[in-house]
Amino acid sequence: MIQKPRGTRDIVPPESKLWVAVEATAHRVFQAFGAEEIRTPVFEHTELFVRSVGETTDIVHKEMYTFADRKGRSLTLRPEGTAGVARAFLENSLDQRPLPQRLYYIGPMFRYERMQRGRYREFRQIGLEIIGAASPLADAECIVVLFEFFTALGFDNLTVHVNNLGDPEDRPRYGELLRSHLQGVRDQLCADCQRRLEENPLRVLDCKVPTCKAITATTPGMEAVASPASRAHVEEVTSLLTSLGIPWQHNPRLVRGLDYYVRTVFEVVSPELGESTVICGGGRYDRLLADLGGPEIPGVGFAIGEDRLVEVLPPAFAAKVTAEGRLYLIPLGGETAFFGLQLARDLVRQGVPVELEVSGRSLKAALKRADKLGFARVAIFGEDELARGVVLLKDLRAGSQTEVSPVQLAEIWNAEAQP
Ligand code: ATP
Ligand code: MG
Repeated sequence: MIQKPRGTRDIVPPESKLWVAVEATAHRVFQAFGAEEIRTPVFEHTELFVRSVGETTDIVHKEMYTFADRKGRSLTLRPEGTAGVARAFLENSLDQRPLPQRLYYIGPMFRYERMQRGRYREFRQIGLEIIGAASPLADAECIVVLFEFFTALGFDNLTVHVNNLGDPEDRPRYGELLRSHLQGVRDQLCADCQRRLEENPLRVLDCKVPTCKAITATTPGMEAVASPASRAHVEEVTSLLTSLGIPWQHNPRLVRGLDYYVRTVFEVVSPELGESTVICGGGRYDRLLADLGGPEIPGVGFAIGEDRLVEVLPPAFAAKVTAEGRLYLIPLGGETAFFGLQLARDLVRQGVPVELEVSGRSLKAALKRADKLGFARVAIFGEDELARGVVLLKDLRAGSQTEVSPVQLAEIWNAEAQP
C-alpha cells in the first residue's frame, strides 16, 4: 500500500475536530481585533524567500522544497507565511488602503527537516501581520492578540520571551562583536556554525547543537550595540506587556531563524514541550516590504505552529471539543426512518447538530454505539411515539429521560450549553 511521504501527517477524525476548533477560535479572536484573512499561494518564486528570509538562514540554505516547473522556472513550496503576505500586499496594492492593516493566514508550510516530535516537513501555521504601524503599540498588540487566542484555548501557563535585534545598521557591529568573542573557540563550533561565523554570525545563536548552545550561552547580547532608538522601542513594548499583566522574560540569545527581523523579536514556549520547542515566533520587519521593491512600510507579526499547538492543547478544551456535541437520532423501525430524516433536516435548520442512525440498528446496538462515540444525548422514536407526536429524549450522562415534542427538542437544545 502507498504511504504518505515522510514528514507529512494525515489529520483525521476525531483529532481533526481539534484543528477545526483551534482554527475557528483563531478566526474569531483575530477578527475581533480587526484582522482580515489573506490567502496566498502555497508555492512562490524561489527568489521571494531568498530575498526575504535570507540566503544564509537554515530555512533557505537547507530546508526549502525547491523545484523547477515544466518551463524551468524555480519555484518553492512556501517555508513560512510572511514573505508571501508581504508580496501579496504589494502586488495587490493593499498599501493604497488605509494603514495599518491587520492580516492573518492559516495554512500549510513546507520545510525539509529531520523528522521528530513537533517537527514535520509539512506543517501548518496560524499567523498575524500588522502592516503599516511603526509604533511599539503594534508589537504589544500582536502579543495581546496572541495571548487572547491562547487564553481562549484555555492556556494559562505561557510566557513570551523577548529580545531586541537592533536596527539593520547595528547588525554588522554585532556580527563583529560575536566574531571576536567566538574566534578563540571557533574549532569547537559545529561545521555549520563555523560557516555561519563568516557568513552571518547572528545565526550562530540560533544553532540547536548542544555544544554550540553551551558556547554561545555567555556571548554578549545585542543590547551592547543596539541603537538607542531600538532600545527605547523594545523597552516600550515590554513595559506595555508588564502593564497588561502578560508574563514575559528577556532572552538575549533569541535571534529567530529569519533575516528580516529588526528590533522586537519574540517567542512563546510551552512548559509541556520544553524550552527548545517553540509554539510561536514573531517580530518586527520594518525593511521587508522595501527589500521586496515596495515602499518603506513597517510591519510586525507572528506565526504559531499549529501542529505543536494542537499537541499541547489544555485537556479541558480538547475534551469539550472531542465530546459528541450532536444529538443522535434513533428511529425504531417502520415509518420512523423517514420521519427521522425529516426531523434531522428540521433540527439542523433550527441550529441543532444531529447524527441520524441510518443503519437500522436495534435500540440496544444504537445505545452501545452512542456510548462508544461519547454522545451526551439521544432522541429515540418508535411508531408509538410517532403516533403521539413525541420523541424520547435521553440524557446518557445523567441517566434521565423525558418525552418531548420535536419542537421542544430544538428549544431544549438551544437553551442549554452543549454538550
Ligand atoms: P524551530 O526553532 O523550532 O526550528 P523556527 O524558528 O524555525 O522553529 P519559525 O520559522 O519561527 O520556526 O516558525 C514559527 C513556528 O512554526 C515555530 O515556532 C513552530 O511552532 C512552527 N514550526 C516551525 N518549523 C516547524 C516544523 N518543521 N514542524 C512543525 N512546526 C514548525
Ligand atoms: Mg526551524
